[in-house]
Amino acid sequence: MKVLVINAGSSSLKYQLYDMTNETVLAKGLVERIGMDSSILTHKPTGKEEVTEVSEILEHTTAIRKVLEKLTDKEHGVLSSVDEIQAVGHRVVHGGETFKGSALVTPEVKAEIRRLFDLAPLHNPPAIMGINAAEVNMPGVPNVVAFDTAFHQTMEEKVYLYPIPKVLYKKHRIRRYGAHGTSHQYVSRVAAEFLNRPIEELKIITCHIGNGASLTAVKGGVSVDTSMGLTPLEGLMMGTRSGDLDPTVVTFVMNKEELSISEVNSMLNKHSGLLAISGSSSDMRDITDGWEAGKPNETLAFEMYEYRLRKYIGAYAAAMNGVDVIVFTAGVGENSAIVREKTCENLSYLGVELDKELNKVRSGEPRRISTPNSKVEVLVIPTNEELMIARDTLQIVQESK
Ligand code: AMP
Repeated sequence: MKVLVINAGSSSLKYQLYDMTNETVLAKGLVERIGMDSSILTHKPTGKEEVTEVSEILEHTTAIRKVLEKLTDKEHGVLSSVDEIQAVGHRVVHGGETFKGSALVTPEVKAEIRRLFDLAPLHNPPAIMGINAAEVNMPGVPNVVAFDTAFHQTMEEKVYLYPIPKVLYKKHRIRRYGAHGTSHQYVSRVAAEFLNRPIEELKIITCHIGNGASLTAVKGGVSVDTSMGLTPLEGLMMGTRSGDLDPTVVTFVMNKEELSISEVNSMLNKHSGLLAISGSSSDMRDITDGWEAGKPNETLAFEMYEYRLRKYIGAYAAAMNGVDVIVFTAGVGENSAIVREKTCENLSYLGVELDKELNKVRSGEPRRISTPNSKVEVLVIPTNEELMIARDTLQIVQESK
């Protein structure tokens, strides 16, 4: 079965086409600047040359039509006909409390995603545009939605509630939902497979640290706590997001600086984190370069980032009464040996012992970076949210037949 995975943003659309008989990627690509003057489609068919096309793409329906044209193109295509696509999987950021797993798209499911616009005003509306665009371009082909929040729906009430008046939860569903669930679920499963141990026996801390960053405590295969909250702002210090802070900072700054709600939101989401402290970049490569060169602002940014990450690892070891495995994944987690080294250096009280040489090896494969003596297995596992979505899509479509 061929499954197309779509990740629709407000002005962008990423795609990957899978052949699920052997879980291989046939092609992937990206449409950028949808609705702007010149949109760019970058198409990478596996084993063939990448193509880039600039044209006017005003909305997602045209974007998907262009993608399908590329997928069936004589020269750059990988399919003889669009009919070969038997299902489409969509990434959706917020599934609220309704979705505890991926779901087949029905009018009711779409209505529920719309109802959740309030909780993810920037992210859920483009997901609906992506679903509609797939329905228009591929009538009769089933669509499946996979939610970033779903994996964390196993968190207990004592974990997901904020200690604020309960009426706010009842009226507005204000609670912790978490994010990156597809990634945390994927890498925790791969970790158990890699170690050849049943996931039910394991206490795993998954560190998804990329531009956005979150940690999850996975006990017995389910999420028991995660660092993101109502929105992906809570928790770790990130590239441009603040992570945890005293909520009074918000009202104090709004008052003193006369900032509006959208201005303060923008400050915390786009102008904080590594970018704010270094004053130069949100990219961990620049931060570690600056740290190595002895630049004071980058050094402080690096130290704060590592310190906050390590505190959360300690918190989740406490939450699970122990930890067997720590997994690093996503842009920083997979690529930054120095972030992993510095973080693990101060986890010796947990029995973590890093093999510094193994830590420096680069590969796109899951690997162990702890020593044989380490009480905690430390692994680097490349995340693959698209494959997880494709697997869910295949399973749900087959079950629905
Ligand atoms: P992601 O959101 O998972 O795509 O991660 C993107 C981020 O990963 C970038 O903004 C960088 O901060 C970080 N990153 C990518 N490559 C490296 C690297 N070689 N060393 C350190 N950080 C990296």
